[in-house]
Formats: sequence, C-alpha cells, structure tokens
Amino acid sequence: MYAEVLLPLPLEPTFTYQVPVGLSASVSVGSRVVVPFGRGKFYTGIVVALTPVAPEQTFEIKAIASVPDGGPVVRHPQLKLWDWMSAYYLCTRGDVMRAALPAGLKIESETAVEVNPDVDGAEIAATLTDREAHLWQTLHAKGKMTLAQLSRETGVKGIAAMAHRMLAKGAVIVSENLRQRFRPKKETCVRVAIPRGDEEALRRAFAEVAKAPKQELVFMTLVEMTAFTRQGHDLTEVTRADLLERTGATTPIVAALAQKGLVEVYTRETARFRYTGPVSGQLPTLSQPQQTALAQIHQTFKDHKITLLHGVTASGKTEVYMHLIDHVLRNKMQVLYLVPEIALTTQLTARIQRVFGDKVVIYHSRFSDNERAETWQRLLRTGEPCVVIGARSAVFLPFAKLGLVIVDEEHESSYKQYDPAPRYNARDVAIMLAAMHGAGTLLGSATPSVETYYKAQTGKFGLVELTERYAPVPLPAIQVIDMTRARKAGQVQGPFARDTVAQAREHIRAGGQVIFFHNRRGYAPLARCKACAFVPKCQNCDVSLTVHRRTGRLVCHYCGFSMPIPETCPNCQEPAIDTLGFGTERIEDDVQETFSDARTLRMDLDTTRNKDDLSQIIDAFSQHRADILVGTQMVTKGLDFAGVSMVGVLGADAVINYPDFRAAERAFNMLEQVSGRAGRQGRGAVVVQTADPSHPVIRFLREHDYRGFYGHEIQERQAFSYPPFARIIYIYLKHRDARVADDIAARYGAELRTLLGNRVFGPEEPHVARVQNLYIRKIMLKIEPQASMARVKELLRATYVRLMQDPALRGLTLHYDVDPQ
Ligand code: ADP
Ligand code: ZN
Repeated sequence: MYAEVLLPLPLEPTFTYQVPVGLSASVSVGSRVVVPFGRGKFYTGIVVALTPVAPEQTFEIKAIASVPDGGPVVRHPQLKLWDWMSAYYLCTRGDVMRAALPAGLKIESETAVEVNPDVDGAEIAATLTDREAHLWQTLHAKGKMTLAQLSRETGVKGIAAMAHRMLAKGAVIVSENLRQRFRPKKETCVRVAIPRGDEEALRRAFAEVAKAPKQELVFMTLVEMTAFTRQGHDLTEVTRADLLERTGATTPIVAALAQKGLVEVYTRETARFRYTGPVSGQLPTLSQPQQTALAQIHQTFKDHKITLLHGVTASGKTEVYMHLIDHVLRNKMQVLYLVPEIALTTQLTARIQRVFGDKVVIYHSRFSDNERAETWQRLLRTGEPCVVIGARSAVFLPFAKLGLVIVDEEHESSYKQYDPAPRYNARDVAIMLAAMHGAGTLLGSATPSVETYYKAQTGKFGLVELTERYAPVPLPAIQVIDMTRARKAGQVQGPFARDTVAQAREHIRAGGQVIFFHNRRGYAPLARCKACAFVPKCQNCDVSLTVHRRTGRLVCHYCGFSMPIPETCPNCQEPAIDTLGFGTERIEDDVQETFSDARTLRMDLDTTRNKDDLSQIIDAFSQHRADILVGTQMVTKGLDFAGVSMVGVLGADAVINYPDFRAAERAFNMLEQVSGRAGRQGRGAVVVQTADPSHPVIRFLREHDYRGFYGHEIQERQAFSYPPFARIIYIYLKHRDARVADDIAARYGAELRTLLGNRVFGPEEPHVARVQNLYIRKIMLKIEPQASMARVKELLRATYVRLMQDPALRGLTLHYDVDPQ
C-alpha cells in the first residue's frame, strides 16, 4: 500500500510513502502520519489518498515512520475544502494545511516540548516505556527543548512517534514561548446519586441527613445548585471546590455523604474552557420585528442557501442568531458562528453561554496551541451538536455535520488573512464550507460589504432586514464639524474642535460615557526636526517612524524596527525634534488634560498585548469605571456598551482618504459602526470632525443612509470595473535590489499581458514600496467574476515557471492576493 501524504510545506505536489504492513490497518485517508523528509528531518503529514499501485519513480520510496492516532484527524469535507482554498487563493495545499492544523497536531523537528507541569511525576512514570521515561527524565532535568535537540541529547531515534505517544499520555506538552499557556486540569466533581424525579428517594435521603446539619446543608445546597428538582435541566454536577465554598464545609463531610450513597464524588479532566457561569437555558423573547426577521430567514433559506441579515446597529441580530442556533442544535447538528476577533471577549461569549451552556465551544488565536488542539480533538471525537464561536481560523475545525454557518459583521476586513498564505477571506471560506455540508449561511451586518449587498440585491443571496433598534431608541444624531472652518476661527485645540469638547463635557456631566475614535496608534505618526525638517525613517522600510512616548521609542509599524527617540536631530544635531500629528497615546494625554476630572481608558494594539488586557479594558468600561475610552478601529467592532451616549470621531479624513478602491466602503462602515456604539439605550450623539464635510461618505453617514451610500459606491465600482464587477488579484514581487525588482516586474507584466491582455494593470510601486529591505512591485489583475480560477492559476503558474528559468531572477519572492481587502 502507498500513501499520498500532504506536508505542511509550501510545495505543491504530495509525496508518496510506503505504508509498512504493520501499520496498514491504522492508516486511512485523513490520518496523521509521521514521515521522514529531506536529510534527517521529519514532519507530521496528512494522508490524502491511498493506492495499492506503486508509483513510477526511480528513487527509493521511504516508509511512514509512525501513526500517532487511532483514526483520521481530518474529515473528508475538510480535505475538499483545503483543495478548494488552494485552487481559489492560488496557494499550495501545504500552505492551507499549515494554517488549518493547530500547532499541537503538527509535531516536527523544530517543535519544542516540555514536561507537563500539571501531572504527577510518579503517576506518569508508571505509564511510560523505558525509552519514553528516559526522554521524560531528560526533559525534566534540562527543561524544554526541540525534538531535534532532544534526539541529539539522548541519542534516541524516531523521536517524533514517541513524542506523539507521550503527548497522548499527557506526559509532555508542546511549548509555546509567546502565548500564555493553559494547562489541562483535573477537577473533583460531585453529583446527586439519586435518579432525577424520584421524589421518594429524595425524601429518604433528606431524612438520612436530618441529624447531621452540616451534611444536610451540603446535600441541600447540591440539590439547589444542580436545580435537581426542576425538570429539563441537564446541569448535573458541580465542582467540589464550588460546593465547599458555598457551604463552608470540608472535604470529609462530602465524603460522608458519598459513603451513605447519596452523592457521587469523582474526578474528571475539565474541558479547558468549560463555562462555569450561570446557565439560564432561556432564549430571549423576540420583539415583533425580530420574530418577523426570523421567520423570513427560515423562509429565504428554502431558496437561498446564503442569506444576508441587514440589521441596523443594536437591532438585536444576536438574539435572532440565538433562535436559529437553538433550532439547529435541536436538529442535532452543529453551528459555526464566526465573529471578528475582538467580539470574542467575554461580552458576546457570555451572552451565548448563558443560553447554551457547555454546548458552546470557543476557538480563536488568543488560545494556546494546546487548547486549540484539544478543541479540535473534541470535535473530531464526538460530532455532538454544539455551537463553535470563533474567529477566522475556526473554519478549519473538523465539523461532523454543520447545520448552519453565521458570519456576524460580514463586512469586517479582519476576516481576511493577509500574511502568510493562504490569504483567505474566512467569510467566503465559511460559505464554501457550509455548502459542502449542505448547510445555509447567514451573513449579518449593519453595513454589508458592497459585494454582499450587490448579491442580495440581484437575488443571488436572500435578503432580510431589521430596520429598527431593539430598544425604542433612534439612531444617534450625527453632527459634522468642518475642521477647516473651525481652525480658521481659532476653535481647535490639539485634536479637538471646541464644540466636540463642550458636548463631551455635557454628556459626562449627565452621567454618560464617551468614546473618542482615532485610527492611529502611538503618540504621533511622525517626528520631525524643527530646524532642518528631517524626518526619521525606518532603516528597513520606506515609512516614517511612529513616535511612542510611553516607551520612549520611534517604531516602524511595518517591520517592528525601533530606536530611542533621539534628543538631537540625527541630521543637523540641533535639539529640535518635534512631533507631528496625533496618535491615540497623545489623544489620551490631551483628554486627561482637557477633561481633568474624567477617568480615561485607551484601547489599541499597544494596550492589549497580553492575553487578558482586552477583556479587562472592556469590562472596566462596561462597568463604568471610566468615563472616556480612546481607541483605534478596535472600538468600532461589535462592542455593546450600554452607558455610551456620545462618540467623537476625531480624524475621519485619515480613514476616508486611503489610496485604495475600498477606502470609501471601509470608511463608511467604520464610521457607521462606531456611531452605532453611541446611545444604545437612550438617544446618543456622534460628532465627526472632518476637513471635507461634503465628501459622499460623510454626506450619507449623516443620515445613516447605508442604501444611499451603496447606490453611490456601486456606480463607482461599475465605472472602474472593481468588485463585484471584477475579481481582483494582486501579484506582489519582491527583491532585495530595487533595479532587479523593477526589471522583473516589467517582464512579468509584459508576459502576463500577452496572455491576459487588458486585464493586467501595472506594475507599480505600492503605497509602501520597501518593507524589511525588500523592494515591492505590484501587478493588478482584473478578472471577470465568472472566469475559472483554475485556468487563471494555471496561466500564472506557467508564467512563473517560465520566468524562473532565468538565473537573473534568482532571489525573487512572489505571492498572490486574491480578493484583496
Ligand atoms: P446588534 O448585534 O444588532 O448590534 P445586539 O444583539 O447587540 O444588536 O442587541 C442590542 C441590545 O439590545 C443588546 O443590549 C441586547 O441585549 C438587547 N436586545 C436585543 N434584542 C433583545 C431581546 N429580544 N430581548 C432582550 N434584549 C434584547
Ligand atoms: Zn520597518
């Protein structure tokens, strides 16, 4: 038997390995296998095909070294999805596999492992073979190391297979340097040992403890905590720790109850993120418009597998989703609920968990690799009904039977992965995934992307609308401040027009909260010498360095390069370094000065670097422990702060004037979304500062006129053949030498033009033309939406192969970006 094995490498073909006779029973399509590759290296790959026919090749066929699992770790629909992604996004299946599998499932030579700190050494030692014990002891003594190092250190060969077995036994874990690690935990649990509903037995039990008040208290509390006497509850157990804490009792009292056979005490491995908060199990009661929308969604799903729910901000889309989820769970199927990363903080997840309890599975990048591997295994093992709430990588999970996919805030650009390949849009992949399961997809947004709305308008997607907010609160009034005029009148101080400040003061005095949105982090976008106008730039990239006062550094936002803020100008040596413009750091300072008695928080990439920072800021602001929140686009995304009555958009122009065909769409969406944060409970106000009040984005924003904006934008798109009227592919070419980059790009462009004619635009230098010392050139293709991507891919590949035969082109890197955001 021979296996075609896909490796997590950017190499196109799969590799053939022989299946040793002893392993043939455990290898099937979708199995994880450890294989040798290259000189002395090994990787974990996935079997994508099996054949009894030996391939025709002259070189030796190597054998699979080991099979770590009892069965496949990838399901058939997933492999189909990987194929589709690699074809559509012009990347290899290895690229897709690398993105899809959590690191915990991808043991390779460079994987670092360490002793699992949460298990008892003696207990584990009993389960290990001699050689495994030897490895374990070495790790114990020396701390974490890569498998390659461990192999060298111990002289043990075939270490990957052993590492897999030791992982399965819980003896070691995959180390992670950067992210905070979550450890597997064992918990002692307690449950009532009487069948539910047997009231006679329950009465006898109470009689039995009547003379031992402490036991009685503990037993009664347990009955209460598990809502034992109520029907239809499936929460049956509590942790012993919870029980003891509630009652002030001690372990022996619980043991005594167990002795009498009234309760059961047992340990179990806790699912890592088991929800322990309250579960009401109650679906929200829908308002009339919500009910209508729900019925319409069920109806449109009959003819349209993809339906758009266009609902204004705070119309209660989430509540409609909950009813849909409930429907699917009752049919014993699974739901994928995609949300932008930021919405995954406790706000949304707690709301869903309160209703669906431990049927909720959460999956996103703030979880460690070990946690993600565990979620993967859970879905693989059971196929039970559940709802997975996740950010974009959740599309890769091994769903057994998806009944519904929800993509909330479908317009969000964070669904797109920029780097590395696969450069995919999770919304579109989710639609494909749903189709492969025969499931429907519901796209939700207050500001749908132009492409999605176009499809809904032209009947390709179903369309359901929620035009009112849930609470009888109108959308906030939008006031536009003409900054050019205000400046002339001397009414601008720092980042604020005088009017903005006056209104914010008023709102805070009235007990409201204020959000200031400014889409630029750091203290100031540039430093400049007052004497000679010198601007410090990145040494690796063609961008000026951003000033970060808190850390005292100038930082490149493209490559991370940084240096201390110089005291004197590096060019003229005058002590005249000044800062220009505003970032959120500086605005925070200005806010503190201007609103001296208000409490302020800041939310941007710099204040949310650690695992819990983000949820802490969100919690603090939700609980009104601050009056003002300053933030970047992070504050625009799906957050629900009841107390916010005013939003100030300080620099609308920077968002609007971005050189890109999506700039207007992005700006309108961002501004409408951030406006939606205001007045979710009482009429709010939005103040927008701009130098260009007559810009269409501002004009339509003023009236919350999404349709007006769409009508304007779709004409522009049609006039210039942009999506949805064409599919855009960017080709990026990079080289260390600017002249070579130019030369290659010109030849590439010419070559493509002979094949694709006037669908080829450029090459040109992108907005930032050098990053990390690579010169970048960009070619744009505009392809008819109905054209076959397989054919385009073939043309591009053939061109690449032909050009690469020229040794002068060595050192070129090239990548494609299909459907750029
Ligand atoms: P959207 O996702 O459309 O912006 P949300 O689902 O966040 O809106 O709802 C906005 C607010 O209205 C939330 O605070 C939510 O709790 C409340 N809400 C919406 N629908 C209901 C309902 N049916 N019952 C109770 N509260 C609701
Ligand atoms: Zn740089």
